[in-house]
Amino acid sequence: MKPPGDRRLTPPGKGTLRSLCEDCSHMKVVSTATSRFLLCQRSRLQESYPKYPPQPVVECPGWER
Ligand code: SF4
Repeated sequence: MKPPGDRRLTPPGKGTLRSLCEDCSHMKVVSTATSRFLLCQRSRLQESYPKYPPQPVVECPGWER
């Protein structure tokens, strides 16, 4: 059962997609007190890459480990 105020549609680990960004060498985590953002460092050199790509990223030609 979800706690009151929990707006997640899918329980953790159940049908959620893991983003390629999570283990890409070009990703940098930017955290605030309440949020976590995945910054694509390729965006600095190539404008075809968004600074904060919509998650989850499931295909990316720039992914590298
Ligand atoms: S190169 Fe692709 S996979 Fe890597 S951080 Fe950027 S958007 Fe994510």
